[in-house]
Amino acid sequence: MQLAEKMSRLGTETAFEVLQRAEFLRSTGKSIINLGIGQPDFKSPDHVVEAAVKALRDGHHGYTPAPGIPALREAVAADILKWRNVQVDPEHVLVVPGGKVTMFFAILMFGEPGAEILYPNPGFPIYESAINFTGAKAVPIPLLEELDFSFSAKGALELMTEKTRLVIVNSPANPTGGAVPKSEMDEFIRGLADFPEAAIMSDEIYSRICYGDQDHVSLLSYPEIRDRLILLDGWSKTYAMTGWRLGYSVWPASLIEHATRLAINCHSCVNAAAQHAAIAALEGPQDSVDHMVRTFDERREIIVRGLNDLPGLSCRDPGGAFYVFPNITECGQSAREIQNHWLEDLGVATVAGTSFGSYGEGYIRFSYAASTEEIEEALERIGNSLG
Ligand code: PLP
Repeated sequence: MQLAEKMSRLGTETAFEVLQRAEFLRSTGKSIINLGIGQPDFKSPDHVVEAAVKALRDGHHGYTPAPGIPALREAVAADILKWRNVQVDPEHVLVVPGGKVTMFFAILMFGEPGAEILYPNPGFPIYESAINFTGAKAVPIPLLEELDFSFSAKGALELMTEKTRLVIVNSPANPTGGAVPKSEMDEFIRGLADFPEAAIMSDEIYSRICYGDQDHVSLLSYPEIRDRLILLDGWSKTYAMTGWRLGYSVWPASLIEHATRLAINCHSCVNAAAQHAAIAALEGPQDSVDHMVRTFDERREIIVRGLNDLPGLSCRDPGGAFYVFPNITECGQSAREIQNHWLEDLGVATVAGTSFGSYGEGYIRFSYAASTEEIEEALERIGNSLG
């Protein structure tokens, strides 16, 4: 068999490999603390589960319209108005099976040899993988520790050329927890006026998980880029629904038909019962979200303090998401060596910063989607090994 050449350019998400290895080690009887996985350690809210069960019992077993059932697209538009204070047309909403699908579609739509796509590095690994797959040039926007893993608007704009077709922004971010302040975002958006042909994809999957005085800055709130902005969000993180495979995007008028066509070619529509559950999640009580974010916030303080107390590690305070990204350069080993050592010898699963791009060398991602006891035990194991 001869595979298409582009298959050799497809990357992967190492977090899944770490998870597999951690599960294997656990199955051999080893005590494993999993701080590697990027999903909330909460159950989906009961009323959401009930809505899915009811939908199945009520006979919602068939295909739905490809972009999503109308009531859900309207619920998404209402939710955007509620949380982002921005009006969007439900006709521009596309319901997709997970946040990843939006990024894949956006990158497929703009990527081809000769095109350039800017993406955050360290960043969610699928951006770079999918860009390379299309044959476009992947241009990293470095996210810098000295800026609390925000980006420099000036630095990002300097990377843009007349070949830039798409710019990907992710705030709050995976793997760093960094959030771009409004002033920096304002400057970036002002500069985009010089590149009117470039589309923007804003990955706001962690929009509801922000801490302290860090308010979420949605790119939807900049009217000057609305005609070329793709918004990525979904239910996975906010409602602890990663396994349901539910996401949504908002596309500009000129792109929604193209996106819908990709959906029809790819998956036809999202699981009907899951779409009913998605309405319940958006319209029902939000106390489970509030509880989850409060709990993450408490753990964030514990893990940041704990990591900074360890010799050789230093850790910034993240503005959002549920990750910390400490600097481990003083430990004297590469990020991958540290990841393997901590998993194999200490039973602590984390993910090497290099799994998120070349600018991740010298860092390790911890997910604090784990109990306080587990976080404290992991810190103790690492502390003992560092002497
Ligand atoms: N975007 C970012 C930044 C993420 O961290 C993730 C998942 O970890 C996704 C998108 C994908 O979300 P989903 O599981 O809904 O596909």
